[in-house]
Amino acid sequence: MEKRVALVTGAGRGIGREVAIELAKEGYYVIVNYAHSDTAAKECVEQIKQDGGEAECVKFDVADFKEVEECAGEIIKRLGHVDILVNNAGITRDNLLIGMKEEEFDAVINTNLKGTFNTMRHFAKFMLKAKWGRIINIASISGVMGNPGQANYSASKAGVIGLTRSVAKELARKGITVNAVAPGYVETEMTEALSDKAREGIMAQIPAGRGGNVSDIANAVVFLASEKSSYITGQVIEVNGGMH
Ligand code: NAP
Repeated sequence: MEKRVALVTGAGRGIGREVAIELAKEGYYVIVNYAHSDTAAKECVEQIKQDGGEAECVKFDVADFKEVEECAGEIIKRLGHVDILVNNAGITRDNLLIGMKEEEFDAVINTNLKGTFNTMRHFAKFMLKAKWGRIINIASISGVMGNPGQANYSASKAGVIGLTRSVAKELARKGITVNAVAPGYVETEMTEALSDKAREGIMAQIPAGRGGNVSDIANAVVFLASEKSSYITGQVIEVNGGMH
């Protein structure tokens, strides 16, 4: 594979899908990862091809250490390299602390935090060999500010920020940058679950006067994936319309 290869986790839907489409427009070969939404992932690949880009979809659960390791090995054997890793896969299981079930806490930590660790752990070694790489982790404003009803989610995203800053320091001399993008409120299936009252409350806190859209986030990711960001590492780019 002569083109640079970008792997985007959870890229069938929402923010990940837009990131995959925009990276393909920049000329990267894109691997669209998904865990459940087969049809959406295939549609994303089709969209990229219609736009004149190249992509494929690969199914794996980011929370499964062994599965990620096996898929990383298979992808590298076939394509030779993965140069850009975007850890976008994420879930919410909102509840107040007092009512939060153990499964709700574990599921969110395992997907959002451990999932980010798993892919970094298994793909960074190939970037080290290539002496070039870009890792972009999608955090959240909740991980920076905290958010009632999201103790599990906020902890997972604060963890992603810690992971990002630490690994950035480990890999900085090896030509690999590691940064996070922390979106504010973005309209996707994830935020569809919010009540109108909750949405109004959030909107009132956004100085820009509007919610984010998926391309606001994708634009930041595309920049961090590029050569132009080579001296930026260990940073959290907050894309939130001034909310924080
Ligand atoms: P979304 O529309 O619900 O999409 C989530 C994506 O994650 C789906 O493509 C889903 O794919 C994938 N996913 C979930 N579990 C997975 C697993 N175990 N392995 C692989 N993929 C998995 O959510 P979104 O709003 O686009 O969110 C994308 C990222 O942005 C998340 O990390 C989220 O926390 C973050 N974020 C979103 C907002 C917002 O306002 N929307 C704000 C801040 C941060 P499958 O359907 O195939 O499972």
